[in-house]
Amino acid sequence: INRIAVITSGGDAPGMNAAVRAVVLTAENYGIEVVGFRHGYEGVLTNDYIKLGRESVEHILQYSGTIIKSARSERFKTDDGGREAAENLDAHQIDGFIVIGGDGSFRGADHLAKFWQGPIIGVPGTIDNDLYGTDNTIGYDTAVETAMDALDKIRDTAEAMDRVFIVEVMGRNAGYIGISSAMACGSERMILPELQKDKPLTVDALVKHIEGVHRVRGDSSYVMVLCENQWPGGAVRLAEQLEDRLNFPCRPCLLGHVQRGGRPTAMDRILATRLGVHAVELIRSGETGVMAGISRNELCTTPLQDTWMQRKQLSQELIDIQTKLFNPVKKERHKA
Ligand code: ADP
Repeated sequence: INRIAVITSGGDAPGMNAAVRAVVLTAENYGIEVVGFRHGYEGVLTNDYIKLGRESVEHILQYSGTIIKSARSERFKTDDGGREAAENLDAHQIDGFIVIGGDGSFRGADHLAKFWQGPIIGVPGTIDNDLYGTDNTIGYDTAVETAMDALDKIRDTAEAMDRVFIVEVMGRNAGYIGISSAMACGSERMILPELQKDKPLTVDALVKHIEGVHRVRGDSSYVMVLCENQWPGGAVRLAEQLEDRLNFPCRPCLLGHVQRGGRPTAMDRILATRLGVHAVELIRSGETGVMAGISRNELCTTPLQDTWMQRKQLSQELIDIQTKLFNPVKKERHKA
């Protein structure tokens, strides 16, 4: 192995830079050159690349974003795109490929493997934490921290003004950011994809719950965590629907892309560093088609296809704590 390539692809996540840094420093340690294609798979198609050495990755691990940029590429998804990418990698004499991204990016890696024979390793980088085969993905911890920070601030004003807040968090189709931030902030209610699909909450049920909490506690500071894509019209619509039925104000708050930025937490920097090193070691040991992950704090690998074909399960223990134990008007919820 003389030269490897690295890309960051799809939705960016805090800690991607730390992973790039770890790849470069580890490779350099073994005398392996690193080429960074910019803008994900798009850069492989357009030959937009930079050589990455120790000096290019110094002091980047504390910053979110990614120095080699991330993007989505439609052209790459076609057979012609895959073939072209493979030809470009060969032209650069690349003999190992590391993709830092989410499940879409790993599907892309699988697509590339149809046209390119070299070793391909995935590194899980997404705030959604929705990849099977790793306890945490890079960026998730930072996103939860950001959501928690915002929810604490929302609670201050909800408390002062006796208001209901619907705070919409990211996570795509997974409730990891939702449940973790809800638990960390003592939110009264959460609307999670994992629960919505079996037993969707109705406006009636939510109204009953809010009124129940109001009766029991005597104030109406109420913070609901709504996962994105789980309510038609999102937090704005839900706040309108609730306000129509309640005697107190309901306000929406969309956290949006702030969850993708900010200083990566220590957990994310360390995870990104471990997985970046692991990815290079895997290439050196001849592995291919796997994602580098962490299970029970030990390094592990999972076939790339499993990372999106198998569904990672949100912990039932956490769901139970939040929905059964810490639900102040449990009986009313069941009636509803
Ligand atoms: P994420 O990695 O955050 O899930 P996307 O779903 O946007 O991001 O995927 C990133 C890129 O990976 C896409 O723009 C595309 O180039 C590539 N990709 C995604 N799905 C496929 C697929 N089924 N086949 C080939 N390439 C894909």
